[in-house]
Formats: sequence, structure tokens, C-alpha cells
Amino acid sequence: GLVGSEMCIRDSYKSLPARIQTLKSLKYKYYSVSCSHFLYFCRYYQNLLLNKIFNAMCGIVGYIGSKEAYPILIKGLKRLEYRGYDSAGVALIDGDLKLYKSYGKVADLEKYVEGKDLGGALGIAHTRWATHGEPNHVNAHPHFSENKRLAIIHNGIIENYASLREELIKRGHNFQSETDTEVLIHLIEDVKKEEKVDLVEAVRIALNM
Ligand code: GLU
Repeated sequence: GLVGSEMCIRDSYKSLPARIQTLKSLKYKYYSVSCSHFLYFCRYYQNLLLNKIFNAMCGIVGYIGSKEAYPILIKGLKRLEYRGYDSAGVALIDGDLKLYKSYGKVADLEKYVEGKDLGGALGIAHTRWATHGEPNHVNAHPHFSENKRLAIIHNGIIENYASLREELIKRGHNFQSETDTEVLIHLIEDVKKEEKVDLVEAVRIALNM
């Protein structure tokens, strides 16, 4: 299962000393890296600090209903822009599961999807503030599962993603991005298949809930 998934919602209930403790324990993991990674980790800590202490940089919108989801999702993302982000993306279901994402602003995403199939009355959308994996198109959310039938967006940090990733690779999973988030959707998919449970139960098991 998954430990220490630091969801933004849960963070807001944490006391400041508890947040700083989390920061310290994460720091020790990265002591052995070389100097060339210095800038990357500066950004990593900057993000971590902003994320943990000010509890910002999270952007998730979801819609299910009778209207077209895409315009509602984009409107939602624009309302969340002030929180800061480096990339944005949406997933829509209209029979097929479609996924569009782009590095940069929500306006860049809108440009990227021009002329593409945006139908669907169910969707999720995300603005990302990178913590694991540099800000780029591939690392932007949403992420697909192996069979591309599930998509995920997530805010926060999955602390034990590296060991889960290794294990899932051994089990035949292929990862497209460097994010911790992508590991979670592959884990959910794996649990669903192995335990022969429905999606809700698979999510519950994967999150140790
Ligand atoms: N840890 C995830 C990533 O780096 C989520 C970042 C966020 O909260 O936007 O993709």
C-alpha cells in the first residue's frame, strides 16, 4: 500500500511543527545526491516549503453532470490560476477516455486542444506545481494507467513512490513520467486486477484506507 500521501486538504489540518517535521524527514532522503542536482533540489525544497507551509499550489477541478464538462473545467482552472502552477491538463470521458495536457499556462492548454475532440459530460482537470519530476509536458497531469482506461490527477506527495515504482516495473508496468502521481494510478490498476475488486475498493486498498 501507500504511505504518507500528503494531500493538500489534509495538510490544512496539520499544525506548523508537524509540517516542518515532514520537511525534515524528507530532506534526509536526498543527502547523497551529487552537486549537479543542486538547482533541481533547490526548486524541490522551495516547492515543498511553499506547498507544506502555505498550503497553496494545488489545483483540482472535477465535473460530472448533464453539460459539456470541458468549458466548466477550464473556467475552474482559471479561477485556481492565482495559486501558482507550471502546467495544466484535463481528462474527459465520452465513451473513450481522452487526456490533454500542456506545459505552461491554462491558455497554452486551450491552444493545444484547439480542434481536438472535447466532448464529454464527465471530466477532471489539474494545474500542477511540480515536486517530483521537472515541469514539462510529460510530467503534467493527468496520468494514464497501463491500460489507459484510468486517469489520475493528484496534489501533494507520495512519499514511498520510488519503491512502489520499482515493484510495479517488475510486475510489467511502464511509466511515461517521472512523477510520484503516475505510480498511484498504476498501483490502483494493479490492485483492481489482482484483488478482483471494483475501482472504489481498489482505491481504498491502494491508499491504505
Ligand atoms: N507530486 C505531484 C507531481 O509532482 C503533484 C504536484 C502538485 O501538487 O501539483 O506531479
